[in-house]
Amino acid sequence: MYSYSDRINNLSESITIAISTLARDLKAQGKDILSFSAGEPDFNTPQAIREEAIKAIQEGFTKYTAVCGIPELLQAISDKLKRENDLNYTTKEIIVSNGAKHSLFNVIAALIQKGDEVLIPTPYWVTYPELVSYSLGTNVFLQTTQGNNFKITPQQLKDSITPKTKMLILTTPSNPTGMLYSKEELQALAEVLKGTNIWVISDEIYEKLVYNGSFTSTASINSDMLERTITINGLSKSVAMTGWRIGYLACKDKKLCKLIDNLQSQSTSNVCSITQRASIAGLDGRADEEIKKMRLAFEERRDFACKKINAIKGLNVNTPDGAFYLFVNCSEIEYDSMHFCKSLLEKVGVAVVPGIGFGMDGYFRFSFATDLKSIEEGIKRIESFCNSH
Ligand code: PMP
Ligand code: GLU
Repeated sequence: MYSYSDRINNLSESITIAISTLARDLKAQGKDILSFSAGEPDFNTPQAIREEAIKAIQEGFTKYTAVCGIPELLQAISDKLKRENDLNYTTKEIIVSNGAKHSLFNVIAALIQKGDEVLIPTPYWVTYPELVSYSLGTNVFLQTTQGNNFKITPQQLKDSITPKTKMLILTTPSNPTGMLYSKEELQALAEVLKGTNIWVISDEIYEKLVYNGSFTSTASINSDMLERTITINGLSKSVAMTGWRIGYLACKDKKLCKLIDNLQSQSTSNVCSITQRASIAGLDGRADEEIKKMRLAFEERRDFACKKINAIKGLNVNTPDGAFYLFVNCSEIEYDSMHFCKSLLEKVGVAVVPGIGFGMDGYFRFSFATDLKSIEEGIKRIESFCNSH
């Protein structure tokens, strides 16, 4: 009998991708499905980026590049981090990978081993605990509440730290809740970490999609945080480049960068050369007008969807500060979020992601990264489902 590794047997499929794929398959079979499951902008990639990609192809920019990225792209990322995030990273402290997911995989693989505990605020983005388990680490979940807008407190962080704690994963703004840590909140968490050897991953992929308050990069809090934080970002969400596969990490530990470069050199090598050239146009200001327009459209959709969902009896949702998700409380109607979402899909053809996939039952995630007309129709269907439940 042929066998598989325990590590791969224990890995689950991404539930967000699984539900989006199911919705797409049902649609292809001719079923009337509205999907709010994918965390993916419905906009096309800005024109300047598309043009730059075509230019790169026509110039024959089609060969292998340096594993960690071409110098011009590394410089554009370094400049962006300085200009927008008040972060000083040299080009030697940045690694470009195939999406932020790949950057996360690389960091966790490079840092986590058996016995290491990783602190993950719940609800979390589905991929984090799977990557930690794949590296044989132990997930330690820090439960948050809707009343606290799904944020961990400094005391909670302090109480969760043990001699085995190796890493904390922060996502700001958050997928699935859209909450955003303020500068003061990050400062308070930083105080707790002072004097420890705990790494912090700060996943900032939704950084440009902020509607209330202002965004602060975790590593910009102080020099101690700069040393311990690995900043993760990418262009998938804010620049509508999900299919291009472009993400990056920045960290001050050059040894860690070298180790990750080694890993990437033995796995995927460089990100597609054309994507790299095109991404420069997404970072240097050429696409800013279009990026701004997309943000404004998301904000309008957020306001509309929040108001409509909060008007449905049995549902309620906190207004998200950022990202493009509503984390909707459906516990009055049904606590079992998997069952709720299955029935919703079967009965009214609406696909959303069950909260349990993010570690919190009694909720579902509704992505508003789709057009207003579909949002309006989808929420009407959700309302009729809830009324008949
Ligand atoms: N982090 C978070 C919080 C996300 O929601 C996503 C979305 N897939 C990613 C990372 C990865 O994005 P990508 O690999 O497309 O850059
Ligand atoms: N991050 C997106 C989401 O949460 C895309 C799917 C995925 O990569 O898991 O829906």
